[in-house]
Amino acid sequence: MPDTPASTCRIGVVVEAPQHSGLWGALDYLSAQPLVPGTLVRVPLGRRVVTGVVWSGTGFDEQAPAVEEASLKAVLEVLDGLPPLPDAWRQLVKFAAGYYQRSLGEMALMVLPPELRQLDALQWGRRLKRLNKAVAEPSVPDPSALPELTPQQEAALAQLAEPGDKPFLLWGSTGSGKTEVYLRQAQRALDEGKQVLMMVPEINLTPQLEARVAERFAGRRIVSLHSALTPAQRLRNWLMAHYGHADLILGTRLSVFTPLPRLGLIVVDEEHDPSYKQQDGARYSARDLAVYRARLEKVPVILGSATPSLESWFNALPESEGGTGRYVRLAMPARVGDGDMPRVRILDLSRAPKQLRGQEPPPVAQELLDAIAQRVEQGEQSLVLLNRRGYAPVLHCSDCGWKSGCPHCSAWRVFHKVDRTLRCHHCGFTERVPRACPDCGNTDIHPVGRGTERLEEQLAEALPQARLGRIDADVTKHKGALEERLANVHAGEVDVLVGTQMVAKGHDFRRITLVAAVNPDSALFASDFRAAERQFALLLQAAGRAGRDADVAGHSEMWVQTWHPMHALYQALRRYDYADFAAQQLKEREMAGLPPYASLAMLRAEGKTQQAAQDFLHAAVEAVQHLAEEIGGITLYPPVPTPVQRVANVERAQLMIESPMRPALQRFLGQCQHVWLELAKQNRRSGLIRWAVDVDPLSI
Ligand code: ADP
Ligand code: ZN
Ligand code: ZN
Repeated sequence: MPDTPASTCRIGVVVEAPQHSGLWGALDYLSAQPLVPGTLVRVPLGRRVVTGVVWSGTGFDEQAPAVEEASLKAVLEVLDGLPPLPDAWRQLVKFAAGYYQRSLGEMALMVLPPELRQLDALQWGRRLKRLNKAVAEPSVPDPSALPELTPQQEAALAQLAEPGDKPFLLWGSTGSGKTEVYLRQAQRALDEGKQVLMMVPEINLTPQLEARVAERFAGRRIVSLHSALTPAQRLRNWLMAHYGHADLILGTRLSVFTPLPRLGLIVVDEEHDPSYKQQDGARYSARDLAVYRARLEKVPVILGSATPSLESWFNALPESEGGTGRYVRLAMPARVGDGDMPRVRILDLSRAPKQLRGQEPPPVAQELLDAIAQRVEQGEQSLVLLNRRGYAPVLHCSDCGWKSGCPHCSAWRVFHKVDRTLRCHHCGFTERVPRACPDCGNTDIHPVGRGTERLEEQLAEALPQARLGRIDADVTKHKGALEERLANVHAGEVDVLVGTQMVAKGHDFRRITLVAAVNPDSALFASDFRAAERQFALLLQAAGRAGRDADVAGHSEMWVQTWHPMHALYQALRRYDYADFAAQQLKEREMAGLPPYASLAMLRAEGKTQQAAQDFLHAAVEAVQHLAEEIGGITLYPPVPTPVQRVANVERAQLMIESPMRPALQRFLGQCQHVWLELAKQNRRSGLIRWAVDVDPLSI
């Protein structure tokens, strides 16, 4: 690098710097030649050499004091041959950093493939050569016959043919043919020579979509982007997208940041799914960023769901119905082939025969058991849903009252019978089950409650003629295990499938004619205001697993075992009336001043003690109270411990910040960051470990 001052220019580069470093924007470096914004470079940072993104001609961080040119360091290398990241990419990253209150560098580098951040120019050059060799010509398309569209699909596609600048909400029952609509609209974009970004919540749970996309677009280059890829695959696929080689990108939330030079359509399938929100670090919502990106790049975006998030639903409600009218709603209420949704049967547990004292209730009421037995006899499959894995959520000593608590968390350790362990689902702490009560030596310690492992065991006992199967996170840890178990179900080797919410999503089970939720009540009284919304979506989605084949749809059933049969949630479910359910929920949210009628942010703190965490939050409130008053319309709630307050010996607390006006909340948070950063530095000595702002938090 020649260091003749006459030929050097000053260049702003963003590098990955942790939040607490206070480096908010770009840093200035010197370069012998001008560099286009979006170029990737290697620069010295402290004692390390790191990858950075050229952001602008000069650094633009107004907060940082101007640095003397003489003390600036030089750009060391340029990753040649990589086209600069497009302006739209930088704008998206900048917006995301600002909106979610993270530093620009963290956001920009976080969304690049991890391997790209580690290569130096030499390694990069070699990689590039290999990649260029690997780009094969796509295979010849197979002109397989397309299904004839249903009238509702026709109508939706007609509206999609004339996109304005509004996002679309495709609200279609499970099995209404939403995917077909995505594929047709994707075809249009591909025909115009555009790229398509298709997002799914969890790629591991949707192998069927991958297969369908691959089959439909056999002649196109399709790449996937998700965290289960090896770093090399991920880099390769990302580059394919960035170079414009890939036509269709199928990805999870991280794919929303993929640079796409020919972007023509974004699809967000199951848009209500919480997986679209990142839960640590930069807590962004890929769904919301997809909407932002579509507007930025002037391309249509389709959000699809049978049970939209209330936020999206509210935006798709016309103003005359109390919504915002910002989205266009496309409704497809009918299932393809007019297969009915299963009949919902609400089973009132209070009317089931009483248990004797001390006797545990049966896993499912007799009536439901009989119904399952009957399906088994007919050679049909049943799906029994229980959203709790393990054998039992807690072990208990009836002599002294000991319970299997976790020594590191404020939570019980779950009993897993398969390997006779007590496992904490929060911190992972695992021990062998003690032979006797650790407190009093009593050998009669017993499980309380029931998880999927126990449910499977009990159903196997109660239905000796049935072949049981189970799908949950415990039995699908190993690569390929989920696929194997799903294949067993599809092959008809399982009569009764026990599973967590994992099986409720997306899978196309042809022979399931009975779905039962055995313990759905917990969500009715949860402290999280979104619990009901989530439960409704889960139950409706689970119901959608039944009767996918028209010839069995006629007698399919969805059973709900409950102590609260008259609850509005179940009553709406019974009629498959999402619109009614949404209306009830919106009314409650409006009265309570909750989203979508208000915007929320959560300031979270972790400390060595609960006191330390809360002290920081109290100080944080005090330090910005005047800002809140200046801006107006900002409510700061008192700090409270989080629902599970201690995890792995770290105490956690949070405070909610609420405003009916999103821009006001944004302005407020923007002004708070520097104040809180300073404050956090001071509080570190008194036991504060970490803090973060979560904008639009999904769980509270
Ligand atoms: P969704 O995504 O709304 O749950 P899918 O797109 O998966 O629905 O469609 C459900 C089933 O119906 C799939 O097996 C699909 O192949 C089939 N299908 C979709 N559209 C049509 C159509 N127009 N004609 C016949 N079958 C269709
Ligand atoms: Zn005991
Ligand atoms: Zn624990």
